[in-house]
Amino acid sequence: MSQSAQVPLTVVVVGSLNVDLVVGLDRMPNEGESVLGDTFERHAGGKGLNQAIAAARLAAPVRLLGAVGDDDSGAWLRALVRADHVDDTDVATVPGPSGTALIEVDARGLNRIIVVPGANALVSADAVSTSIRAMHGVGVVMTNGEVPLAVSRAALAAGRAIGALTMLNPAPVLDYREHLVDVDILVPNEHEAAAMSGLPTQTDAEARAAAQYFSSQGVTNVVITRGASGAIWSSPAGIEEVASFEVDAIDTVAAGDAFCGGLAAALAHGLQFSDALSWASAAGALAVTVKGAAPSLPMRAAVQELINQRS
Ligand code: ADP
Repeated sequence: MSQSAQVPLTVVVVGSLNVDLVVGLDRMPNEGESVLGDTFERHAGGKGLNQAIAAARLAAPVRLLGAVGDDDSGAWLRALVRADHVDDTDVATVPGPSGTALIEVDARGLNRIIVVPGANALVSADAVSTSIRAMHGVGVVMTNGEVPLAVSRAALAAGRAIGALTMLNPAPVLDYREHLVDVDILVPNEHEAAAMSGLPTQTDAEARAAAQYFSSQGVTNVVITRGASGAIWSSPAGIEEVASFEVDAIDTVAAGDAFCGGLAAALAHGLQFSDALSWASAAGALAVTVKGAAPSLPMRAAVQELINQRS
């Protein structure tokens, strides 16, 4: 991997912040029934929060744009991102609850999840656009589907307007057709790529064809992530396979967020795209070796070490 001596540019992340409330219980209650839970945990989540922390741990300056509620969870989420040196100046506090996921996991490991978007649904497209357009020294503007479509659309347009690289992680899958004109880097996983393109993505050949489909829609760089099978990168220079790093996978939560944060941070450090993909893959691989979302996002030294081991 080539090293870059220059001061890194800023990574701007526009996305969601959530609190995950997780109950472990023997069996799910029936309608109208009360049961006792065994365990209760609170975790920070949301793709915006995860991707911002992922990039910050790789030593990029990061600004997060989004919203939390005026509740305890909001203050807690804000403190958490600050602890990872993410600039939360543009995270608004809005009346009402923060984004919340209520997660029940039974003894068989099956789950039921209710997501309340809360403050994430109230992020203002105008505020996002105005903030980004006033920024300097931005390398990458990255967004995802957990904020309203008008917000991700505004983020990409503003990123393009200030000359930053624009990146869309299209999760969850929504109608992003109007977004693509302002996307420099599209990073879906294989399921999202299939849903968006209507094409199968299971085999190597199918994933390549799907990547080419997005290229034909005018997206300069398409990176389809494929879990332990690595990724496919399509660009005007052609199609390449991005090898994954071999690790013992324990929990795949947040692999994609680690990958996106890693890619954005590496590009902000001035790395060539192919080297940036190594950072992203190493970050994704390390994230699956630790349980949870934010706790699994690796620091730069660990990413560097994994890359050095291979080269
Ligand atoms: P998502 O979490 O969005 O479904 P993926 O599962 O495709 O995303 O993972 C993103 C990236 O993380 C992969 O392209 C790969 O580089 C890395 N990764 C994910 N799972 C593994 C694994 N089991 N072993 C090694 N790398 C992995």
